Amino acid sequence: MSKPILEPGVLTGQKLFEVLQYAQENDFAFPAVNVIGSNTINAAIQAAKEAKSIIMIQFSNGGAHFNAGKFLDNSMQKAAIAGAVAGANHVRAMAKAYGVPVILHTDHAARKLLPWIDGLLDANEAYYAMHGEPLFSSHMLDLSAEDLDENIQTCKNYLERMAKSELLLEIELGVTGGEEDGVDNTGISNDKLYTQPEHVLMAYDALKEIGNFTIAASFGNVHGVYKPGNVHLNPIILKNSQEHIRKVHNLDKLQPVNFVFHGGSGSTPEEIKEAVSYGVIKMNIDTDTQWAFTSAVKQFMDDKDAYLHSQIGNPEGEDKPNKKYYDPRGWMHQGEKNFSKRLVQAFKDLNSENQFAYFYDK
Ligand SMILES: [Zn+2]
Repeated sequence: MSKPILEPGVLTGQKLFEVLQYAQENDFAFPAVNVIGSNTINAAIQAAKEAKSIIMIQFSNGGAHFNAGKFLDNSMQKAAIAGAVAGANHVRAMAKAYGVPVILHTDHAARKLLPWIDGLLDANEAYYAMHGEPLFSSHMLDLSAEDLDENIQTCKNYLERMAKSELLLEIELGVTGGEEDGVDNTGISNDKLYTQPEHVLMAYDALKEIGNFTIAASFGNVHGVYKPGNVHLNPIILKNSQEHIRKVHNLDKLQPVNFVFHGGSGSTPEEIKEAVSYGVIKMNIDTDTQWAFTSAVKQFMDDKDAYLHSQIGNPEGEDKPNKKYYDPRGWMHQGEKNFSKRLVQAFKDLNSENQFAYFYDK
């Protein structure tokens, strides 16, 4: 079978849905990387170009605020809205410039962050009125800390609005452990870390007729990286959930739900492969790419230490200028390159490398 041919730019609506279905049916998933500004955005797009695939680029609320500059006051989520919209426009411009297809998303939004999502939905609707597609591909609501009925009801209300501008909704059932973006779930009780198949069915029933959605189900996954042996993944929960829905609704489709794997950093290739085989089409990566960026910068600083103590004077002479060593473009690019390299590895782990042809290769 020939590979699907993709145009550069942001995938939305029906095209996005078809790509996710294709990934699920062919047992691969996309890395979804958290970005915080143009450096990490460009590095993420470059990784997709190397892997000849599609990259999912996402802003957390903190990442969106950071992109606006931490100087800017975030009352009423104004800075995080402005930062995410500016980032989305940068992604759209660079996806075209690099010739890469991108899925553009926002990460965890608990109830207190709904004003952020509301602002982004306004931006999507304005963009939709002008271009016939939303600015973003999708958004996530994470109401997993709440009562299940409230979680699902709020998601349903949001999807009703989002479907009108062809946006996809990612929801969360059960809690991802660990700590991320200032939300600390390290002390959560064990039963909350494992989603029940009945709960997945409830969400499926509530959302199926309204619009496109994905489900981040918990199977023991945690944000962050911990010592081996401290995390017990149970991906069979995903398989059981698919089977439960299939049985109740008497479906032919093997995997009715597209799942999302949060807390992918630090997982083994075997664990990733198993989760993908049960219908995972997106795996989030943040902690490992943070480390990739920072460790490369540290390496540069260590290697060039003797050139970084003053503007003039180094081991080659006391009048030698150090400008080329302290110019931030030099050391930042080391971070960008290693960030990108780590992502190319994620494409391999998720089996999404070389699954597509780009239109200009025809
Ligand atoms: Zn997450």
